[in-house]
Amino acid sequence: MTLALTNATFIDRNATSVRTGTLVVSEGTNGTIDFNSNVPPGAHAIDCTGKIVTPAFVVAHHHIYSALARGMPAPPRSPRNFVEILELIWWRLDKALDLDMVRASAHAVAIDALKSGVTFVIDHHASPNAAPGSLHAIAEVLDEAGVGHLLCYELSDRDGSERFEQGLQETDAYLTNHQGLVGLHASFTVSDTSLQRATELALRHQTGVHIHVAEDPADEQHCLQHHDCRVMERLERSGALESRRTILAHCIHLDDRERAIIAASNAWVAQQTESNQNNAVGALDPQAFADKVMIGTDGMHSDALGAARATYLMAQRAEGGLSPRTAHDRLRRAHAYLATNGFAGDTTNNLVILNYNPPTPITAENWPAHLMYGVTRAHVDSVISQGRLVLERGRCVRVDEDALLANCREQAQRLWEKL
Ligand SMILES: [Zn+2]
Repeated sequence: MTLALTNATFIDRNATSVRTGTLVVSEGTNGTIDFNSNVPPGAHAIDCTGKIVTPAFVVAHHHIYSALARGMPAPPRSPRNFVEILELIWWRLDKALDLDMVRASAHAVAIDALKSGVTFVIDHHASPNAAPGSLHAIAEVLDEAGVGHLLCYELSDRDGSERFEQGLQETDAYLTNHQGLVGLHASFTVSDTSLQRATELALRHQTGVHIHVAEDPADEQHCLQHHDCRVMERLERSGALESRRTILAHCIHLDDRERAIIAASNAWVAQQTESNQNNAVGALDPQAFADKVMIGTDGMHSDALGAARATYLMAQRAEGGLSPRTAHDRLRRAHAYLATNGFAGDTTNNLVILNYNPPTPITAENWPAHLMYGVTRAHVDSVISQGRLVLERGRCVRVDEDALLANCREQAQRLWEKL
C-alpha cells in the first residue's frame, strides 16, 4: 500500500536539503519517495506534523549471536586480557547456542533495530555447535520483521576442522541463494589453508570477506610470530582486499604500512567505538582511510545513531577532533557500501519518522549537529522499510514484539543455564 506522510519535514541522506510537504512513499524493492501536493487515492496517510522524516539507518558490523548476553552470569574468572575476554565470555556463549536461541537472538536484534530507526543490519554470526541452517534462520527472522540484511558465518579454526567445515558449508549453501559475505573470525584463529579456502569461496560467490582486524595487539603479535608479517600484509597476499565487498572490522593496532594497504585497497572498514571501550582495546584513528569507515555496534546494541555519537565524542581525543558533519557522513557511509556493491534491501523508501521537536532551528547545514547532540532512539516514532510500515508509534507492526521478547527471555534463561 502506498503511504502518504503529510506535513513531513524531510531531510535527505546527505543532509543537503530540508523540505516540508506530503511525502508519497511507494512499496517494494524498487519503491520511490516523492513530494506530492495531494494524498493519492487509496494511500494510507500518516500525519507527520512536527516530525522529522529521514532515511533509516544501517548497522555496519553486528553480532546477533550475542543478543541474549545482556545480564548473563559472570565468567568463571575475570578475563585478564582481550584473548581471555573471547575465551571466557564470547566463545563459551556462542558454543552454547542452539538454533532456537539463534532465532530468539535474531528476534531481539530485529526489534531493537527497528526501535532504533535501523532497517538494515550487516551481521557477523557464530554458533559453532549449531552452524548448519543458522544463517538461513536469521535471514527468515529479519525478513519477517522487515529488516534488510547482509549476513556471514564466522569461519575459524578455534574449534577444530570439523567446525570449520560446517561453517564453510553453511556459508556456501547460504550464498547459493542469498546475498552475503564470507565471514572469518580474525587472522589469529585462521590458518593459511583456511584463509585460502575462505577467499576462494568468496571469489566463487563473487563476494568479499568480513573479518576482525587488529582489534587487539595480540592479533598482530600472533601474525608476526606465525606468518612473519603483519595482519594487513597477510590479508593483502590472500587476495581478500580485492573485493569491493570486503569489510575489515576495528583496524585499531595497525602500523603506517598497513594503513597505506587499506587506503589503496577496495576494502571498507567498520568502526565500533563502544565495544572497543568495553574491551579496553583502544580507539580507531583512520587517518589515510577515513573515507572508507562505517559505523557498527559489534553486538552491544542495534542503535547505529547512538554508536555514531559515541564515535563522535571519542574522536575528539582519538582522532584529534571530528566535525558533526564528518561523523554524520561516517554514520551514512554504510548506504554507499551497500549501493556500490549492488546489495538489495537498503532502498530509498526505508525511512525513520522522528518525534523530534528541538529548541533550536533545523537546517541542512546543522542537521548533523542535531543528530550528534539531540536526536536519540527515544525520538524514533515510526519506521518504514521498503515502503511498508514496520514500526508504528514505537511498536513493531509485522511481529508480536511482546510474545517474541518473552520467548527471548526464556531462551536466554536456557542459554545461561548451559554456561
Ligand atoms: Zn565484531
